[in-house]
Amino acid sequence: MEKRIDGRTSLYALFGTPVGHSGSPAMYNFCFQHDGINAAYLAFDVNVENMEQVMKAVKLFHIKGGNFTMPVKNIASELCDEITPESRLVGACNVFVNKDGKICGDVTDGKGFIKNLQVNGVDVKGKKLVVLGAGGAATAVQVSAALEGAAEIAIFCRNDSFYPRAEETEKKLKKECPNTKVTTAKLEDGEKLAEAVKGCDILINATSVGMKPLDGQSLIDPSLLRKDLVVADTVYSPEKTKLILDAEAAGCAAAIGGKGMLLWQGALNYEFYTGKAMPVEEYQKYQAEQAEK
Ligand code: NAD
Repeated sequence: MEKRIDGRTSLYALFGTPVGHSGSPAMYNFCFQHDGINAAYLAFDVNVENMEQVMKAVKLFHIKGGNFTMPVKNIASELCDEITPESRLVGACNVFVNKDGKICGDVTDGKGFIKNLQVNGVDVKGKKLVVLGAGGAATAVQVSAALEGAAEIAIFCRNDSFYPRAEETEKKLKKECPNTKVTTAKLEDGEKLAEAVKGCDILINATSVGMKPLDGQSLIDPSLLRKDLVVADTVYSPEKTKLILDAEAAGCAAAIGGKGMLLWQGALNYEFYTGKAMPVEEYQKYQAEQAEK
């Protein structure tokens, strides 16, 4: 019988759909057990239409905290009782804590990305960035980078339904982070993209290109990759995208995949709702042991 669960066990939860593949329950339950926290973390498959009921249920059942994933991250930011300025700017919420019936939300995707750069020795402050994409991950990265003091952010997005979001982010950041120069251009303008990559310090792919079914593809011509350029990807599956492999082959200053972003945003979530630093090293060790089995 499960010895950890008793009448006082608190519940933490993930909401979204699909959630069956999520690594969050395994990670947070490991951490609760490791830290001696009497809590359990479960995943609930819910859609946007269920979200008002979800928020009521969180209060009714005293769910202490948890996460929102696709497709409910945007609506969650509207339904929380309180959100951080970063969550408001991104227009999304992926983590919440229940403070005596008040649901407080934040977004940690961008912060997790920045932290992953930092642990790899890269600081965005004062740097010129090119960020490809204008979806959820891209917007979070763009907002966090501006809040961290990036000097320039050149957003390149395909001429699709996400493009207006890039323009919206530019507008918001110009108002809220006036010290960061933000521009928006179409990915299809190859000449402009090449010019921007040549002049930037950090190139970031925050599109789905590189991930299945677009694995083996990259939006950047390898001839643009140079030794003093830092290259980072938000895609974590495969661990090394074509862009990251090209950057390694070109001897770029750093080639940083998206797996660390996933880990660090998870660690920031844990800290947000438990107030404790996540036992990251111990969890990584446990994960490696499980993979060997
Ligand atoms: P999204 O659907 O919100 O946005 C997709 C973006 O990719 C859009 O800007 C779209 O224009 C662009 N795009 C799609 N196909 C393209 C193509 N063929 N050419 C050019 N641009 C194209 O998705 P998202 O949630 O922002 O996720 C984007 C990527 O980031 C995914 O691979 C996802 O797995 C990854 N991600 C990683 C983490 C992490 O923790 N590492 C977190 C969130 C997302």
